[in-house]
Amino acid sequence: MATKQRSSKELQPTTPPHLENDLKRLRLPIFLNSYDSLSLECSREETTYVEYLARLTSAELSERDGKAVQRRVNAAKVPTPKELSDFDFQAVPSLNKPKVLELGRCGFVGDRTNIVIIGPPGVGKTHLSISLCLSACRIGYRAKFFTASSIVNTYREAREGREVSRLEASLRKLDVIVIDELGYLPIDRCGAESLFGFFSLCYEQVSVIVTTNLPFAQWPQTFAGDERMTGALLDRLTHRVEILAIEGDSYRVRQSRQARR
Ligand code: ADP
Ligand code: MG
Repeated sequence: MATKQRSSKELQPTTPPHLENDLKRLRLPIFLNSYDSLSLECSREETTYVEYLARLTSAELSERDGKAVQRRVNAAKVPTPKELSDFDFQAVPSLNKPKVLELGRCGFVGDRTNIVIIGPPGVGKTHLSISLCLSACRIGYRAKFFTASSIVNTYREAREGREVSRLEASLRKLDVIVIDELGYLPIDRCGAESLFGFFSLCYEQVSVIVTTNLPFAQWPQTFAGDERMTGALLDRLTHRVEILAIEGDSYRVRQSRQARR
């Protein structure tokens, strides 16, 4: 910025009295906090004015992006944060690790592909679904985590308050929706119809990640025994789908067995 080295006292030009107020009005908190110290730093390094402006702008943007990620992560309402980096792939050799890592880059969201994670209890289905949900939030997508029961309850409450259209409008704004634990609890006729409506709404609009303990052939029993409705639902869900089938014992049971040994 300066062509020759000057003492730090000289480097501080008189600050225009309106500057800080203007930065507040423009909602540029990082400019406000850093313009002074960064001007000293840039003078010391003899950078150009443009470089000074570029550094301030990047700092402001990275703070803003970080906050936006945090807002999306909070809005996703995952039960506990889980990361792919903490997933022990060696414990589940049946799982296609390269495929899971590729899904973690979230290309599936762009082409509205769904993911179905099938396996017995404790093998990491919820862990994987949360990790993918959080990865999507970090990339810039809006995501939300539900269990099968919680989405059914959300629909029921919306129906009672005559707010189904509002609920569906808000779901349509999301990019990824997790439905965890489909098939664990039986769902009544009304709940099954809600889920059918939900999957129709998401078809080619929102990527859905479903975790389930049931192979597709047993899904009708979850949807109030309605084979026709389940068939239509599976048709939509599996039109574009990645299926992760996990086999093996519960991770925690195995861990505690190993610990005892
Ligand atoms: P599921 O949904 O299949 O019943 P969870 O994802 O809830 O299983 O896993 C149960 C617990 O074990 C969680 O705390 C999860 O983080 C952990 N877990 C399961 N599988 C693995 C794994 N392969 N690597 C690391 N942690 C795992
Ligand atoms: Mg689970």
